[in-house]
Amino acid sequence: MAFVTRFAPSPTGPLHLGHAYSAILAHDMARKAGGRFLLRMEDTDLDRCKPVFETQIVDDLTWLGLVWDSPVHHQSQHIADYNIRLEAIANKGFIYPCSCTRSDIRAALAAPQEGVQFSVYPGTCRGRPMASRLPGDALRLDLAAALHALRDADLNFTETGPTHHGQHTVNPAEATARIGDVVLSRKGEDIVAYFLASAFDDADQGISHVIRGEDLFDFTAIQVILQHLFGLPTPVYHHHRLIRDHQGKRLAKRDDARAIGKYRAEGASPADIRRMVGL
Ligand code: GLU
Repeated sequence: MAFVTRFAPSPTGPLHLGHAYSAILAHDMARKAGGRFLLRMEDTDLDRCKPVFETQIVDDLTWLGLVWDSPVHHQSQHIADYNIRLEAIANKGFIYPCSCTRSDIRAALAAPQEGVQFSVYPGTCRGRPMASRLPGDALRLDLAAALHALRDADLNFTETGPTHHGQHTVNPAEATARIGDVVLSRKGEDIVAYFLASAFDDADQGISHVIRGEDLFDFTAIQVILQHLFGLPTPVYHHHRLIRDHQGKRLAKRDDARAIGKYRAEGASPADIRRMVGL
């Protein structure tokens, strides 16, 4: 199997040490395997993603010595396509319209690693038929219905990261308790959820290995479920350790103190950054 991986930042802030670790690790693993390393901008949140951050991220990655093997893939340029693919399964019985508040839905749509706390949807609109869909309604996955439709599928994935190394099978009860009925899109605003956009992109970009932070491990289950619903392949997953601050907290984009730009301004070299993240 050809080794193809990607680094997929959301351009909502500067690149910090945690991102640098993720990007360098994915890049080095691809090079070592004689494979390909791709760069994807997860820029579907048009309010929070800014071109200035993308420019900065690309500049920092280039400075770190990383080279990607295709032009940068922008999710924002594929939203119409994601929606067409979602609409194509909208009448199969595992998606329902939801009119819960905009802020609830915005929070649910945000890329999880941006520090937004993930909360399981209480199911208020579950059971609403697609025919009751109103302009502006979101579409949610009816997880129980999806799991029922996939009852004979092998919801398996291979994990090569240090903490969860081995073969995994999606546990329906756990997925229901921890993830639940995720939002897949919000009509009228042309937004598609991270879970879905990234599952489509991993398939479209031929990603064989998803290399990303351990904080996203729990979301793998929902992505494996979506892969089966949409007939997409399941890549191998590698969830790596997180770079933490001195209080042991995972770094987030707001941690500008750990921004690569700041270390660069202080005269650090790319080798210094590699050392700082333990590579
Ligand atoms: N967009 C996520 C980030 O900013 C990465 C998600 C993924 O790698 O699947 O870290």
